[in-house]
Amino acid sequence: MTRVAILGGGPGGYEAALVAAQLGAEVTLVDRDGVGGSTVLTDCVPSKTLIATAEVATDAAESSELGVVLGDDAVRVDLARVNARVQRLAAAQSADTTATVERAGVRIVRGTGRLAPGDRVLVDLNDGGTDELVADVALVATGARPRVLRDAEPDGERILTWEQVYDLQELPERLIVVGSGVTGAEFASGYNALGSDVVLVSSRDRVLPGEDADAALVLEDVFARRGLTVLSRSRAASVKRVGDGVVVTLSDGRTVEGTHCLMAVGSVPNTESLGLAECGVAVDEQGFITVDKVSRTSGRGVYAAGDCTGVLMLASVAAMQGRTAMWHALGDAVRPLDLKTVAANVFTAPEIATVGWSQAAVDSGEIDARAVKLPLATNARAKMQGIKDGFVKLFCRPGTGIVVGGVVVAPRASELIYPISLAVEASLTVDQLARAFTVYPSLSGSVAEAARRLRHRG
Ligand SMILES: Cc1cc2nc3c(=O)[nH]c(=O)nc-3n(C[C@H](O)[C@H](O)[C@H](O)COP(=O)(O)OP(=O)(O)OC[C@H]3O[C@@H](n4cnc5c(N)ncnc54)[C@H](O)[C@@H]3O)c2cc1C
Repeated sequence: MTRVAILGGGPGGYEAALVAAQLGAEVTLVDRDGVGGSTVLTDCVPSKTLIATAEVATDAAESSELGVVLGDDAVRVDLARVNARVQRLAAAQSADTTATVERAGVRIVRGTGRLAPGDRVLVDLNDGGTDELVADVALVATGARPRVLRDAEPDGERILTWEQVYDLQELPERLIVVGSGVTGAEFASGYNALGSDVVLVSSRDRVLPGEDADAALVLEDVFARRGLTVLSRSRAASVKRVGDGVVVTLSDGRTVEGTHCLMAVGSVPNTESLGLAECGVAVDEQGFITVDKVSRTSGRGVYAAGDCTGVLMLASVAAMQGRTAMWHALGDAVRPLDLKTVAANVFTAPEIATVGWSQAAVDSGEIDARAVKLPLATNARAKMQGIKDGFVKLFCRPGTGIVVGGVVVAPRASELIYPISLAVEASLTVDQLARAFTVYPSLSGSVAEAARRLRHRG
């Protein structure tokens, strides 16, 4: 029986554990902070739970056009209750995942693990003491943590990382979010909807520099309309606590005052003290473990998955890398990871979902594709629901009409991207996408309509 040891119980680790157990291996999962990992305990699950409340608050605040009359107090959010719910839900999700993994026959060891020569894994147990495992196959899936700037040390009260916001008992009156990538934009959008006065400090020309430019423009318009201030081309040099508030000093000397500051300036991999060098596992200059498309590292019998590889920092990708590692290691059918089929979503209001090739790749000539962009304002269901912002964008190959990518900006874009994702994965043509029935009236009707437009533009 192949002995598999996995370091890290996030989606990279626990999904791998499930596959390995299914394939008949003897599996040990070593985890330090709780099965489910940062995904469940501090990152993805808590933030999307908080945003679920923000969505309801947004809908309520914007419902007067639909004839809903709210009381004088408008919409008020009790953050202590929201955060208690977030923490309950995260703990329950971790317990569910633990039970699923144990039911599959995986042994869970609670502690901090590291690799050692001789196919060994050494563990400092959380309860004290040590353990030593021998493994034919090891998977490192230890994740990442928030990057901390030297002059902006979080104190857990006023200067916060995204892991610390769920201890807040009251809504920040004026929240400065530093960083306008996906995490910064999501929290800025969320707290704005919950009722905070939000300032987003962005070092770039626009928010979400890595996303579709048209989508980012829609979001910037919505932010401006909702009173969220974006300071673009503004780099935070330091963040200091002053009394009951914070002062963010920008690199050009300007200062921004707030009651709280949330730092969202990227992640660093948890790859120190793992014995990687001793076991021949190469990392890049930022410490991310180098892997190939089947999650192999340069160390013999050692695989890696998830945020510690820096390939694409998403829970779904971590899970796929972990499964792929086990399929490969245990001799099952395996397909190399294809990032061009990954669907991703930014959980702002509206949401921004993408899959496949991007507009930037089309514009730079990296791929030859035709594009159509259909504003949601023309969609009957959107009109009925009072949705004014957003669009569906579709890319297809010029000759064959094969769908190669798409962008959806809409409420619940994360759900609407699925037909496009399916089309990209299965190499469906715009003809096929256009021919499938959609419900009338529905937002997904715009996906089919976009396909019809591309079909008629030879
Ligand atoms: C605020 C935020 C929101 C996000 N939202 C989404 C989203 O909506 N959708 C999405 O797809 N992605 C989202 N992500 C990204 C997603 O959370 C990560 O990509 C995902 O957590 C990566 O999973 P992982 O398995 O690599 O690591 P993690 O989930 O970080 O798990 C790693 C585990 O390893 C443990 N560990 C570390 N070192 C050791 C050691 N030496 N020994 C034993 N255990 C160890 C840790 O305690 C942790 O439990 C979000 C990220 C952030 C920051």
